[in-house]
Amino acid sequence: MAGNWKMYKTPAETAAFFEAFRPLVAAAGHCEIVICPPFIDLAAAVDSARGTSIRVGAQNLYWAKEGAFTGEVSGPMIRAGGATYVIVGHSERRQYFSETDEMVLRRTEAALEAGLTPIVCVGELLEHRESGRTEAVLCEQCSKGITLLNERQFPKIVIAYEPVWAIGTGKTATPQIAAEAHAVIRGEMSKRYGSGAAADVRILYGGSVKPDNVKSLMAQDQIDGVLVGGASLDAKSFATIVNYTS
Ligand code: PEP
Repeated sequence: MAGNWKMYKTPAETAAFFEAFRPLVAAAGHCEIVICPPFIDLAAAVDSARGTSIRVGAQNLYWAKEGAFTGEVSGPMIRAGGATYVIVGHSERRQYFSETDEMVLRRTEAALEAGLTPIVCVGELLEHRESGRTEAVLCEQCSKGITLLNERQFPKIVIAYEPVWAIGTGKTATPQIAAEAHAVIRGEMSKRYGSGAAADVRILYGGSVKPDNVKSLMAQDQIDGVLVGGASLDAKSFATIVNYTS
């Protein structure tokens, strides 16, 4: 159960979130919990998560280890700061910062090399879905951005299916739509890495996940977890999502 805070919260607000969140998820042994705050908050999040099973992730990374790349942050830097996850290829990065599948692949490889677990995002636009191209788009994102990883790299990634039309819009994919897309992605992974590795890879659903729809999404066999934006900013709401089984 992963939270993407996007560009929200200061370090002080991060510490306050964890103060409220920690006790609410102290008994959650059924899942891994990851919080991905903005870079400026990583240190506060890592400090606040110490001694708990909550993991911290970044929202992006650059593929070079270091160098003259003003404004960028590398995998080894993120790892040295205590984070263990990183979101790669989020649709907001693809949309507003012109990220391509090739860049997504480079970032994913850099994350793995730094010892980070990449959460690699794929998903179709509304126009793709409306024109019946969802499957083709997902397959292309997988073939250019994921299945060029080798057999040793693949088991170390997490995939997130995030239909762009459902992100921050309040429109959630129905559990069935999400499960169908997950099956397409898993099918592509199975062709490339075999059915065992494809069954094992964790595929998260993301797109307007809220306390009141998480149960029906998680009831789908194909859905292994969720990537939550807006609803992860509030400790109570994200804890309710994490604790969806109770
Ligand atoms: C996201 O940012 O990855 C996301 C799914 O956002 P939201 O839950 O707000 O739709």
